[in-house]
Amino acid sequence: MNIFSAADFADHEQVVFASDDASGLKAIIAIHNTHLGPALGGVRMQPYPSEADALRDVLRLSRGMTYKAATLNVQLGGGKAVVIADPHSEKTPELLHALGVAIDRLNERYICGEDIGTNPNDMREIRTTTRCVSCLYEKDGGYGDPAPLTALGVFSAMRAGIAKAFGTEDFSGKRVAVQGAGNVGLNLCRLLHEAGAEIHLADVHEDNLKKARAEFKFETVAPDAIYDVDADIFAPCAIGAILNDTTIPRLKAKVIAGAANNQLDTPGHADMLAKNGITYLPDYVANGGGLISCAAEWYRTDFSLVPDKVRGIFDTCIDILESAERDSVTTSIAADRIAEARFTA
Ligand code: NAD
Repeated sequence: MNIFSAADFADHEQVVFASDDASGLKAIIAIHNTHLGPALGGVRMQPYPSEADALRDVLRLSRGMTYKAATLNVQLGGGKAVVIADPHSEKTPELLHALGVAIDRLNERYICGEDIGTNPNDMREIRTTTRCVSCLYEKDGGYGDPAPLTALGVFSAMRAGIAKAFGTEDFSGKRVAVQGAGNVGLNLCRLLHEAGAEIHLADVHEDNLKKARAEFKFETVAPDAIYDVDADIFAPCAIGAILNDTTIPRLKAKVIAGAANNQLDTPGHADMLAKNGITYLPDYVANGGGLISCAAEWYRTDFSLVPDKVRGIFDTCIDILESAERDSVTTSIAADRIAEARFTA
């Protein structure tokens, strides 16, 4: 593999390969950029098809974290760790402790958190060998489940979107199609319900819809029909790559803001949305409430200040929308430029 000319190798400051025979650890930690603070990013654990795939993933994801932290203006850089292991059968306390040792050797340049294949209990386990851990449960000294704050961030991004698209920040009577009634989706629906929006909700698991039905009124939508709802706003809160050649022409919404990561199938789909007159709030900004919470946890900022900081995603989105309009670029490019100006300054 030709590492230095690989497309995903983008001036990373440091990439560390960590292994431990006794526990079976095979991990890669990538620190993309620390100009704004220590590199914070989740630990992704999965049985990658090859080591090259794991390297590609960690390089791409750590770079993404630099952009996310810089755009959200938290004093953090971008990093990520991948562990090549099946989280269901190969995750052991020993393996997590060995990972903690590898993280600790980086002298607080990388702070880990949860991601696919890891959870706050694993963070507590990693903390036995390093203090460079965030995303802990409250009982372990952390700031707890970030989903309500992620939802508040999505709601704030959405508010900026409707201000731009409809000239109002008022949600009453706005029709919102929400894809996914999971942790974030349900919290988002609560906020939308309180704000007077009309909710159309889809989930592949009926149980999650049942939970929602006990709390607020909504129209149930079949999972594949969510793209066809006659809605003002579309909120993807389930899976990635759902904004693609097939779905975009079906959307009637004028605003998209959701929690799901990597919503655009390809970067070019941002152009397609813009051409269709849809205001797209970049996913990594709209779903930044969780990162803001983890940053506050790391810096021990008073937790009561965090919701207001998350509401600040509204102002960040207004900046992005204004830059996009001024420079005639997509909102994705505008967000990336704001980040680059900060972390290269
Ligand atoms: P979750 O697993 O609790 O919820 C996802 C929901 O989507 C589940 O109820 C699932 O049944 C449903 N779903 C899956 N495929 C679907 C489909 N095709 N159509 C409709 N529903 C479908 O996850 P979450 O914590 O709510 O996160 C939602 C998304 O936001 C994920 O992509 C996650 O990576 C991202 N995200 C979450 C956070 C957070 O704080 N939890 C932060 C940033 C990003």
